[in-house]
Amino acid sequence: MDRRNFFKTVGGGMLASGTILGVPGIVQPEKVYGSSKGMKLTYEVKKLQLRNTWTIARNSSNFKNNVFVKLEKDGIIGIGEAAPNIRYNESTESTIDTIKKAIPIFNNANPNDFVELGYEIKKICKDQTAAKCALDIALMDWVGKSYQLPLHKLWGLNPKKGPLTSFSIGIDKPKVVIQKTKDAEPYKILKVKLGKGDDEGMIKAVRSVAPNKPIRVDINEGWTDKEKAIKKIEWLVKNGVEFVEQPMPSSMLKETRWLRDRSPIPLIADEAVKNAHDIPKLAEAYDGINIKIMKSAGLQEALRMIWIAKSLNLKIMIGCMIASSVSISAAAQLSSLIDYADLDGNLLISNDPFLGVKVIDGRLVLNDKFGIGVNEI
Ligand code: MG
Repeated sequence: MDRRNFFKTVGGGMLASGTILGVPGIVQPEKVYGSSKGMKLTYEVKKLQLRNTWTIARNSSNFKNNVFVKLEKDGIIGIGEAAPNIRYNESTESTIDTIKKAIPIFNNANPNDFVELGYEIKKICKDQTAAKCALDIALMDWVGKSYQLPLHKLWGLNPKKGPLTSFSIGIDKPKVVIQKTKDAEPYKILKVKLGKGDDEGMIKAVRSVAPNKPIRVDINEGWTDKEKAIKKIEWLVKNGVEFVEQPMPSSMLKETRWLRDRSPIPLIADEAVKNAHDIPKLAEAYDGINIKIMKSAGLQEALRMIWIAKSLNLKIMIGCMIASSVSISAAAQLSSLIDYADLDGNLLISNDPFLGVKVIDGRLVLNDKFGIGVNEI
């Protein structure tokens, strides 16, 4: 029996066991094996409308213009998304410019060399990680679809082991915060944004309607005085806060280490960490890291970050930007490896163009669809 007929015999969706090309337990189907090259890369901007004005210590917004990409080859389409963030000098325009630079790379690429191709994408320019993330999500979505496996299965991860996800409450007037907290009733953990002034007022408003719910807080680099910061943390601990995300500017590593030595609850790095390279130096000042695929330039680097963080005994959180189900479902593929999930970006928008991972009883529930598991509505 030749190779093609062997695969026909084992059946359309079934794969024989074995190891080929470094993927344990999987023999690649004939149609994706070989050296054929060339992927078509297209992009499109979609305006995502926020349910409420979104305010954090840094800025406010009512909508986000995210850039969606499609990678096509052999009738299979991989989908990706970029959520550009001004904090990292990204805009819709700079994202599109970066994606355009990748067109010739993909026109000559074999997607089965996805690890090498991932590194090629990272080399396009120094930063612009949201654009590179869109390309990596689309590439891995294509790979999963061509192997006929959800990505979490391709990576050997148990989809039932993911943690509860938190729901974020942005900075606002007490009346609005109370309403947002009531609306967040189905979610079992809240992440409250602080660092822009009346931190106590924000927590008091949340606690007035959710007296016992676990709360995490995100300062978004908003505290710049370490003595005041430790007093705020002590007050937050009395109000049942579990951990503090990015209390001080990422550049204030020495002050953050001082704070960490005195804080009774964990400090989690967010803006201070983008990729695997950043992690070792943070281990002395933080107890954990918030990995976001938009910062890491995609799923492949996020996976490398998880292994490094685990080796340094750091807690691992997966967070997100304001984004559609494409980004959230992609990041959720890694959720069984992490301690804390904050994957609610798609829940904060009112016109999600895609369907993917669901939140049921506060928990991320992955589906069995191939790749990142999303469909366009
Ligand atoms: Mg954060």
